[in-house]
Amino acid sequence: MKLRNGAEYIESLRKIHPIIYYKGKRIEDVTRHPATAPHVRAAAMTYALASSKEYRDLATATSHLTGRTISRFTHVHQNVEDLIKKIKLLRVLGQKTGTCFQRCVGHDGINATYSVAYEIDQKYGTDYFERFKEWLTHIQDENLMVVGAMTDPKGDRSKSPAEQADPDQYVHIVERRDDGIIIRGAKLHMTGGVNSHEILVMPTTAMNEPSRDYAVICALPVNAPGVTMIFGRQASDDRRDKMERIDAGTRAFGTVGGEAVIAFEDVFVPTERIFMDGQTEFTPAIVYRFAAHHRANYGACKTGLMDVLIGAVSYLTQIQGTAKASHVRDKTTEMIHLCETLYSSSIACSAEGWPTPSGAYMVDTMLANVCKQNVTRLHFEVARLAVDLAGGFIATLPSQYDLESEDVGHLVKKYFSGVEGIPYKHRIKIARLIEAMTGGTALVESMHGAGSPQAQRVMILREGNLDKKIKLAKALVGIPLKSGTPRIRK
Ligand code: SF4
Ligand code: FE
Repeated sequence: MKLRNGAEYIESLRKIHPIIYYKGKRIEDVTRHPATAPHVRAAAMTYALASSKEYRDLATATSHLTGRTISRFTHVHQNVEDLIKKIKLLRVLGQKTGTCFQRCVGHDGINATYSVAYEIDQKYGTDYFERFKEWLTHIQDENLMVVGAMTDPKGDRSKSPAEQADPDQYVHIVERRDDGIIIRGAKLHMTGGVNSHEILVMPTTAMNEPSRDYAVICALPVNAPGVTMIFGRQASDDRRDKMERIDAGTRAFGTVGGEAVIAFEDVFVPTERIFMDGQTEFTPAIVYRFAAHHRANYGACKTGLMDVLIGAVSYLTQIQGTAKASHVRDKTTEMIHLCETLYSSSIACSAEGWPTPSGAYMVDTMLANVCKQNVTRLHFEVARLAVDLAGGFIATLPSQYDLESEDVGHLVKKYFSGVEGIPYKHRIKIARLIEAMTGGTALVESMHGAGSPQAQRVMILREGNLDKKIKLAKALVGIPLKSGTPRIRK
């Protein structure tokens, strides 16, 4: 692993100068700009754990390609143990950062592409798999961060990619050359895009034959000519300048993954970095495998965040003098219960993992969808209970400017302190953390990251095997299994 720790990762980002805009201006250095630096530090934690004695076993793996030690975030899962270790690692990272550390998206893209490229080659005799392994060895050896780029803008969602009035609403190949392809379009919601080294482009949905120019998987550096990123606004992002560090909620890491638009304006991708070109029948597999891996993650990274939130609220109740009230204990119990329920889902879909023909392991897709669907509910319920226990004073809490004002600072200190002997700043800092973790943009990711709730419901019904369930019921009461489905008279 060339990049051995967080500092080396941060240093590596200073050398690549991708084109990034934020609030209409170019960001020259993502590692120092107040809007992006917290996300850089959160991602750096994935590097830091790999070099720590305590977490090395979780954060690293042995490459099945080279036998060398690599970051787990560049590893192809070889067994169930790998899947479970990833889940444990994500929870620890959620606990240590209190936010999205972004690197899982590329990891899931790597795992999905690995198995799909193999299967395309088996069918067509192409050499995508060999190309991909070569690229992946480079990623593993250099220890690079990859952004998994799947979600397109999609334009008119009632139309397929090829039917769009604007053909660029989905990333597509505009020219095939002897030495590679030219791609155009954009990807949205690119978690960690601005602080990654490489982009792994994948199709966003199942494609039909007329959309074959949209069935493309390829990799390119973030600073490839023609790539432009626009970094998203988040609630309270103006609070991140130095003066307002208490108001920002967390000292170092931000409270939600940094998302960006990545636009591809006629970008050249050389042949050796193309891993799918036109094989539309494999687009459902790449989308579904990527989504299932990422949905499995949410019961781990988000439970890490919930651990922090539950801890914050519990401490707040202690320093407000409410910790011993029976309803507080009951609501705290409920938050822990919900959090561990989600974690169980992540462990379960990993424990039920299965090998694809390539040897790469997949999670159980039904359980992964159930896991993510539950995150869209239970994380919100945990947040609701946290806000309930914290109390309404968060909505009135004055800013750090008032806290440090010579005129009114003494009033803020006096009226926003809690139990005697506890520094007033403890209560204010913890309250801001709870505010940041329960409001603004933080929960949007739990709802829509890894696919909106309806995407999981579609898969849950599809994989629910209703026919089998009907047969079970029939068998128990003695109805012939072959008796047909009744026709409904109109
Ligand atoms: Fe990783 Fe969770 Fe962020 Fe997705 S939301 S990139 S799984 S930390
Ligand atoms: Fe996410």
